[in-house]
Amino acid sequence: MRRSEAREHALKARTTKQSSKKGKVWLVGAGPSDPGLFTLKGKAVLSMAEVVVYDALVSAGVLAMIPDHAERIYVGKRAGDHAMAQEQINELLVKKALEGKRVVRLKGGDPFLFGRGAEEILKLREHGIAYEVVPGVTSAIAVPAYNGIPVTDRNHASSVHIITGHKRADKPLKLPFEAYVKTQGTLVFLMGLSALSDIVHGLLHAGMDPKTPAAVMERGTTASQRRVIAPLHGIEAAVNEADMQTPAIIVVGSVVELSDKLSWYEKLPLFGRRFVLTRPKERMDELTQMLRMRGAEVIEQPVIETKPMVLKETVALDYDWLVFTSPAGVHTFIQMLWDTGRDVRSLGNMKIAVIGSGTKSALREYGLVADLIPEVYDGESLGTLLGENLVDQSRVLIARSSIGNPKLVTCMRERASALGKTLTIKDLAIYQTLEKKNHVTSITQFLAEDTIDGIYFTSASTVRAFLRANTKADPTKIKALCIGEMTANEARKAGMNVYVAEEASVEGLLQLTESIYTNEKK
Ligand code: SAH
Repeated sequence: MRRSEAREHALKARTTKQSSKKGKVWLVGAGPSDPGLFTLKGKAVLSMAEVVVYDALVSAGVLAMIPDHAERIYVGKRAGDHAMAQEQINELLVKKALEGKRVVRLKGGDPFLFGRGAEEILKLREHGIAYEVVPGVTSAIAVPAYNGIPVTDRNHASSVHIITGHKRADKPLKLPFEAYVKTQGTLVFLMGLSALSDIVHGLLHAGMDPKTPAAVMERGTTASQRRVIAPLHGIEAAVNEADMQTPAIIVVGSVVELSDKLSWYEKLPLFGRRFVLTRPKERMDELTQMLRMRGAEVIEQPVIETKPMVLKETVALDYDWLVFTSPAGVHTFIQMLWDTGRDVRSLGNMKIAVIGSGTKSALREYGLVADLIPEVYDGESLGTLLGENLVDQSRVLIARSSIGNPKLVTCMRERASALGKTLTIKDLAIYQTLEKKNHVTSITQFLAEDTIDGIYFTSASTVRAFLRANTKADPTKIKALCIGEMTANEARKAGMNVYVAEEASVEGLLQLTESIYTNEKK
């Protein structure tokens, strides 16, 4: 048997085996909203998912971690808006698992706390389907924590009770209020906003001190987090006045007093800001991290992706200079070397020029140090610098995107010829930039509410792709945070409000952000 035939045979055997095998379901808690509170195990399981079945309360930040190839099924459940009945959800999990799929059932907070996780598992057991449970950080504890409220405290409460305030329409809420009051512990009500009146009256009727502090916290751990604090007897009026909406948590007990002193989330420099990143790959992960550490909410909505070109012939490496204009260019080029049985040693004495700090770091991942980098990180500056520095008759290979800035080559030639030099330049497209279809994350709600503070664009193509992916977006309401002039021009053309980083790098974008938003009141 020839080698290729053997490989095909083995592959076939493996796929047949897979389709006859039963799948498995992981019941995973997605945490309260902040993607930083999603567990490491949850993330690892999610990265291997083939099907993801998720609820309304799973945040965009966590949804962005779903792998591209996975099938995503929304079964949103929020009071009054059931995209799919529980029985149907159970059936769906069974069906997908029986197809042999690795299914992740993602639920807000912890899957066993008012999550109907057990019902789903019982159904899986009936069919002999394997499952695992990955607990999550529950909103019942994390949302108070993000509001400076510890649910227990030596001096205030030695127990905490988590209660569902969910009630059926037109039926009064029936709960053992006397028993709750007797515990003297902290009471946390989930799904209780529409039953707030019943809860307050139930507790007062059962003898709770009307002055007991109460808090209602909306959209905890997000940029839209808000809270209202008042004595129990006045909390309803305060909540109506502030027009609090779901999802919200109610906490009753003297620990609520601590919020004044302990609250911290709002004090972070970028708290309350919601940013969208249109391109999370490459060094953008770093920007996400830095913004989140400063308290901002960051949603990644990659609108473009890069795809290596199929090159007709093996790229010869008989050049004096190699030029990269993006981290993607570096990664694709190195991969191309490997695919053709070569590695960095085949670059020999070639010198390397890069457009900016991001590309320089990408190069360093392979143990390579850049020889030349312009002061201003753009195509024109790099071209001019090369034209100036290269010796006569130099041979240059530019390995970059198929839609690279033409000025790189024209500036290089002009500068060189002004100095009486001739260069041989090969501008090789090694990857394509494509618009990404089927987006993992939807920002429609935030666009409609006009609650996005800024959108990062790192190339002209991201501006165009963003507008095509979000047809409802009103460009005149968008603050575009752009990495360089080319990008900024495209955003201006679209009618956006444009801000440009002084330095075309992640650090430059962060500086720009801090100068616009830090300490500026909303
Ligand atoms: N299993 C989830 C709770 C599901 S019940 C958990 O462990 O967190 C849904 C209720 O959770 C909502 O009605 C609301 O009371 C609460 N909730 C979930 N996320 C919230 C958030 N980010 N802010 C405020 N309340 C939240």
